[in-house]
Amino acid sequence: MAEYDVVIIGAGPGGYVAAIRAAQLGMKTAVVERDELGGTCLNWGCIPSKALLRNAEIVNLFNRAESWGVEVGDINADFGVAVDRSRQVVKRMTLGVGYLLKKNDIDLIKGQAVIQSPTEIAVAPPEDGPEENLTAKTIILATGARPRSIPTLPIDGTLVMTSREALEAKDMPKSAIFVGGGPIGCELAYVYNAYGVDVTIVEVLPHLLPNEDEEIGAEVERAFDNQGIKTMTGAMLTAMSQEGDQAVVTIKTEDSEQQLTTDRIIVAIGVQGNAEGLGLEKVGVATERGFVTVNERMQTNVPSIYAVGDITGKLLLAHVASAQGIDVVERLAGLTPPELDYSLMPKAVYCQPQVASFGITEKEAEASGLEVRVGKFPFRANGKALGMGDYDGFAKIVMEVGTEKILGAQMVGPEVTDLLGELSMNRMLEGTVRELGMMVHAHPSLSEVVKEAALACVDEAIHM
Ligand code: FAD
Repeated sequence: MAEYDVVIIGAGPGGYVAAIRAAQLGMKTAVVERDELGGTCLNWGCIPSKALLRNAEIVNLFNRAESWGVEVGDINADFGVAVDRSRQVVKRMTLGVGYLLKKNDIDLIKGQAVIQSPTEIAVAPPEDGPEENLTAKTIILATGARPRSIPTLPIDGTLVMTSREALEAKDMPKSAIFVGGGPIGCELAYVYNAYGVDVTIVEVLPHLLPNEDEEIGAEVERAFDNQGIKTMTGAMLTAMSQEGDQAVVTIKTEDSEQQLTTDRIIVAIGVQGNAEGLGLEKVGVATERGFVTVNERMQTNVPSIYAVGDITGKLLLAHVASAQGIDVVERLAGLTPPELDYSLMPKAVYCQPQVASFGITEKEAEASGLEVRVGKFPFRANGKALGMGDYDGFAKIVMEVGTEKILGAQMVGPEVTDLLGELSMNRMLEGTVRELGMMVHAHPSLSEVVKEAALACVDEAIHM
């Protein structure tokens, strides 16, 4: 039986990053993976979706060619080529993970892991062959999650899909309904619309991106409307029937009910944890609604078993999974990293306009009795954004009165996913809005919007 300090189940961004850090810290480490290296993120999530979004942006540039004085004639954008390109990007990334595991002397064991005891794991290989048995001082569950479906919308991979199938389907339908207006729904709706699909998003809550500040969702709805993406908010898909190759769906709002016919439905309503078949019941690891229960140190109720990433159901983002993984193994090695603060984790959505945020919103601050001021600055007052012809959106900063510290920021607009780092860094270093505003930013740059929003918190914005 092979013996390890740490065995990690799952090679997504939670698992493989934890493994690399554990190996760096001198632990004998193995990773068990039943599928591709890189998990959902690299194979069917973050990476292929961002590659497809880049294709969509380029198609949209061509769609707007006339406004740049460029004549292109009829555009023939081949989505199959976009999917192929995204798979090449995936391949490159997953090969990179394999290389990193090898470089760090981490044993990769292919197969399905089942926990046998608090320190023992059996691995059934992907093909026939003997089971492999491992012992570990610590087991880290990093088994991720998969898209959730609902009985009304059985997934068949052609008419009704989740993001998993949609990221690999090379054909584009004439029309599509996205059920769920969260990040995944919005990103894929943007891609489909760019490729000429008649797109409708159905969201049960009052705005798209309901986990963001309401103003952000409203701005994305406005921009999507200009792009030709239809949004139905406060609306619920209640029934579906198949007619030939199409689906007929019933959509209810508070005061109306209508039927729509569509060529494809993409269900993007969240995820469920990959907790089944892992042997959790056998060793008594507690779960709640399909996710593994952990304390603030990602430890389960069985002291030698930890869980990181989507399987914890905390904040289902790749960088959060990695941060949790690093935190766990650093503590195992005797280091004392600061406790993770989920309210400060960056959140990003990569449709156009992009969305990025961290910390608390104005409404949340008020609800918790904090005295705050908000500084807001629009991209339409920024020279770089105007020059780019891409000036939807704004940056909004929530400042605590008195300390002038940044409690949160919400942005919608061009490249905001890359602008967010400056704000969270300021927060981490316990800086103030004045320090951010005082810093000279390159001109013209989109980052000037961040500086001006910081100054707007103290009524000192220059260009407004
Ligand atoms: P995963 O990446 O899901 O990896 C889990 C791994 O465990 C898998 O490889 C699985 O095969 C393996 N596994 C499971 N059970 C077993 C077992 N019993 N034995 C062996 N192996 C097992 N997040 C972002 O931060 N940014 C984004 O832009 C973003 N975009 C996304 C787009 C889409 C379409 C989707 C679906 C998700 C997106 N996410 C994004 C979310 C992100 O993919 C997840 O948060 C991230 O992958 C979670 O990492 P993880 O390591 O917890 O799990």
